[in-house]
Amino acid sequence: VKIHPKVAEEAARIVSIRRRLHQQPELSFQEHGTAKLIVEELRGARVDVRHPVARTGVVATMQNGDGPCIALRADMDALPITESSNAPYKSQNEGVMHACGHDGHVAMLLGAVRALDALRSEWRGTIKFLFQPAEEGHAGAVSMIEDGALEGAAAAFGAHLWNFQDVGTVGVRAGPVMAAADRVTINVRGRGGHGAAPHQAVDAIMVAGHLLVALQSIVSRSVDPLDSAVISIGELRGGYGYNIIADDVFLRGTARAYREEVRQLLRRRLGEVCEGVGRTFGAKIELEYRDGYPPTVNDAAMTDVVRRAAGRVVGEAVGEPYMSMGGEDMAYYLRRVPGCFFFVGSSPLGASPRIPHHHPSFDFDEAALGIGASVFVNIALDMLRA
Ligand SMILES: [Zn+2]
Ligand SMILES: [Zn+2]
Repeated sequence: VKIHPKVAEEAARIVSIRRRLHQQPELSFQEHGTAKLIVEELRGARVDVRHPVARTGVVATMQNGDGPCIALRADMDALPITESSNAPYKSQNEGVMHACGHDGHVAMLLGAVRALDALRSEWRGTIKFLFQPAEEGHAGAVSMIEDGALEGAAAAFGAHLWNFQDVGTVGVRAGPVMAAADRVTINVRGRGGHGAAPHQAVDAIMVAGHLLVALQSIVSRSVDPLDSAVISIGELRGGYGYNIIADDVFLRGTARAYREEVRQLLRRRLGEVCEGVGRTFGAKIELEYRDGYPPTVNDAAMTDVVRRAAGRVVGEAVGEPYMSMGGEDMAYYLRRVPGCFFFVGSSPLGASPRIPHHHPSFDFDEAALGIGASVFVNIALDMLRA
């Protein structure tokens, strides 16, 4: 592993920032202390600081002569999880925890700020460092874009520490890397009645049973088998007692896909199946389909930039990331400008089992921070070569 020399100089500081953030995790759009720490850390660098952006976000713009403009992004928020850890840097905010690694993302990007400030003779242009709130389900990226955070940027890059890969590796892949994750709410409306007289009722539980099975035919029979999609009904409620025919059943779940076309297919077929099953049994089925994050799709040329930048840090250990049907709001930036979202392996070597993100004992190998910061620095140097 070849940490960029300017990042190596900042290594201790990057780890200390990460640990301070880890001790004071804050939920989406409540990252006030986090933003304060970021603004203080930026004081030592020649950047123009905008805060607040998107309520609790920070944008630092580093100008260095004429040239293109790129955006580098880190998310800032933590999760409502009680940390189970004996680490000295354990969460001091009861019930809140940096269980996804966003503390590390902020620390890596602050390290890149200082390194790129010291490397001004090697690049020309503008770098916008985006410290974004509320990635965990609250679409902070949308607020950032609405507040102009991306203005002027011709490309955007972001990273996720990734405990599904060993530290010392970087996952880079063109095309979709994270899924669209939409929410589905269904109400089956029948007509209640006596268990002895089904002919006088419309049994919502029986209809829901058919619907539940028919919905799974969408992925198995309507989606191209070479595409990825998943529909999961996570909640089903209805009924009153052993001799009562239920009038209403409520279902809730998620629909996920990598490609926008597949996502539209899921939405359309969900509507058709609900309508059709309802008509078949004389029930009325109401479907509410709520868009979550869109798919995160990497541009091919920008992915090549990241692959080369990462190759100079970890050599041969640049591979394809472990894929996930999870969602990520980096997707919104990548719909506006070409860019790449990459994965910095962070699982300690030999860890078995690997501790997944969003787990109460999540932690990562801090050696990944220098790797991630170095990749960001190399990306900027390549995109903005003097
Ligand atoms: Zn997360
Ligand atoms: Zn995350």
